[in-house]
Amino acid sequence: MKVFLDGQLVDQADAKISVFDHGLLYGDGIFEGIRIYDGNVFRLEEHLERFEYSAKAILLKMPWSRQEISDAVCDTCRANGLKDGYIRLVATRGVGDLGLSPWLCPKPSLFVIADKIKLYPQEHYEKGLAIVTVPTRRMNPAALSPAIKSLNYLNNIMAKMEAQQFGALEAIMLNDQGLVAECTGDNVFVVHKGKIFTPSAQQGALKGITRDAIFDLAAKLGLPMEEHELTRYDIWNADECFLTGTGAEVIPVVKLDGREIGNGTPGPIFKQVLEAFHQLVREDGTKL
Ligand code: PMP
Repeated sequence: MKVFLDGQLVDQADAKISVFDHGLLYGDGIFEGIRIYDGNVFRLEEHLERFEYSAKAILLKMPWSRQEISDAVCDTCRANGLKDGYIRLVATRGVGDLGLSPWLCPKPSLFVIADKIKLYPQEHYEKGLAIVTVPTRRMNPAALSPAIKSLNYLNNIMAKMEAQQFGALEAIMLNDQGLVAECTGDNVFVVHKGKIFTPSAQQGALKGITRDAIFDLAAKLGLPMEEHELTRYDIWNADECFLTGTGAEVIPVVKLDGREIGNGTPGPIFKQVLEAFHQLVREDGTKL
């Protein structure tokens, strides 16, 4: 496998980052997860825009133009003959000393990995996931905005491990007010009486690219949808629930905290959205 690293496509074994890189030492960096479907990099421009927003938020001055980053993404896919898969785009603060100071890191690093991914076993895409609410709370936006896709994912990893301890593959994370924020790498949606609801960024949700696509699809399908505060109770008593994310794509949830959601099978609105999503991902993006 070829990996793009600082301007070059190198063999996987040679794709190495220094132990003094602050991305590793302090989680000081940003990333994007991007999908490619049948040679179409889904919503690449939106990902590159969010990448730039994340960089700005952490005062990381990227010395690469949007076009250069876009080329790095596409070239990595081409070099690996990847037409369907997952792309990880990462910018780190770069090499510095052992202190925190980002000002002592003169040169950020950029790398791109393009590979296959399957976030959850296939059977759950058909039958749905049983998930749990975990004790670890989503980061307070005043501490570190969940809108920034930073390399600081320990919070989400703790939640993922807690889910596993309860025998579940995914976790609902609440914000510090006890409202539903999102899952460890996915946005969450419920359907109640024909209407779709999802938490807002203020409630701790990342503004997911897949989430945006669901808003577009709902509008196209004539399904009412809005951002709304959600409690665990709202999910327990929803007619349907599903998650979205670049890695996860669109996956139904049929149980939360031992409570069956709706009739315990993937619902009709989920199925309608999923079908429209499968069509959209082949059309909306950048062709290799
Ligand atoms: N929330 C979190 C915490 C994420 O890391 C992600 C991305 N994997 C998402 C939501 C979904 O966002 P997107 O649809 O842009 O992948």
